[in-house]
Amino acid sequence: MEVDTLLQQKTFSSSDLITLLTCTGQAKEKLFTHSKKIRDTTIGNSVHMRGLIEISNMCIKDCLYCGIRRSNKHIQRYDLTDEEILSAASFAYQYQYGSIVLQGGERKDRTFIKRIEQLLLKIKKSSNNTLGITLSLGEQSKETLQRWKEAGAHRYLLRIETSNEDLYKKIHPQDSLHNFHTRLECIHLLQECGYQTGTGVMIGLPGQSLEDLANDLLFLKKLDIDMVGMGPYIEHHETPLWEKRNQLLPQTQRLQLGLHMISCLRILMPDINIAATTALQAIDPNGREKALEIGANVIMPNITPLTNRANYQLYENKPGMDEGVEESTLKIAKSVLKSGCKIQFSTWGDSLHFYRRNYKPVKRQIK
Ligand code: SAH
Repeated sequence: MEVDTLLQQKTFSSSDLITLLTCTGQAKEKLFTHSKKIRDTTIGNSVHMRGLIEISNMCIKDCLYCGIRRSNKHIQRYDLTDEEILSAASFAYQYQYGSIVLQGGERKDRTFIKRIEQLLLKIKKSSNNTLGITLSLGEQSKETLQRWKEAGAHRYLLRIETSNEDLYKKIHPQDSLHNFHTRLECIHLLQECGYQTGTGVMIGLPGQSLEDLANDLLFLKKLDIDMVGMGPYIEHHETPLWEKRNQLLPQTQRLQLGLHMISCLRILMPDINIAATTALQAIDPNGREKALEIGANVIMPNITPLTNRANYQLYENKPGMDEGVEESTLKIAKSVLKSGCKIQFSTWGDSLHFYRRNYKPVKRQIK
């Protein structure tokens, strides 16, 4: 079917989405113009900045694609000190970021849970309760998630990585720590605890088909998710998945698919928050701007202290390794303007979708 006709539809099948994911030339331009227009008319062209603080690369998980997996002995493990985290948060506050994201490897021990709780309380206090806080700290129990929410976090990112359970099994070790259903259950818990809930997938994984990607989009829609971060998979030589690098699409094609995914998702879910992710920029220096031009509305400049940046390499060629926080803030602000968007300073930049869905009980449609 013609892309023009497809874009008039209200609902999309997996095969419609495959057509949109693979269209080229004029059809692609139409798709991108359409998704940009949907963003602009639904939520406007303001971009929300979140200061990303990579608090630690200590991780109990062993995901086969990730550079900070437990078995990688070739990286120096670090934990930012409380002072470093608080000073990064205070930088974000001064520079009117509005929100920060605390991201790190996964830990579930009591010391860690308590420390995050204390940090949340301190960050809230030191910013006069104004800084919004998103967490991205892996799978946690309902009790932990509630504790962190009470301490001040209000958004949480936990990517499902792929909605195809068989593929999930191929990119994770086969044990109870890496279980597709546990991860999905945790996303439901986040929704139940009242977090603005974000998830996402990697694009261009070895063994991933176009149908898988189309199904990922339908999965995000069915989950009624508030925020999405998704980007191209990028190989890392100290991980088991490196062996499958010959099966991958060229990086430029993974980037293109990433942009098509963002564009299609904006059409499917007009009022959610969609991030222009760093992995896009790892392939193309203008990757994030390109995402903002076609419908993304969130950007997360890295404000981790430079001393530890290089040790948080989830994938290779991660950009901004030697870029100071002021420099990266300025650079991002320029890119946002270049993409034709405005920057929204000192606001949380919540997902409109969250407020629209929050009053309905979340239905557990996917098991
Ligand atoms: N521990 C947290 C944060 C993980 S890092 C958690 O479990 O959610 C954030 C994201 O980086 C992951 O969810 C994954 O989607 C992405 N990532 C990891 N390795 C990657 C790679 N090689 N290429 C692209 N993205 C990767």
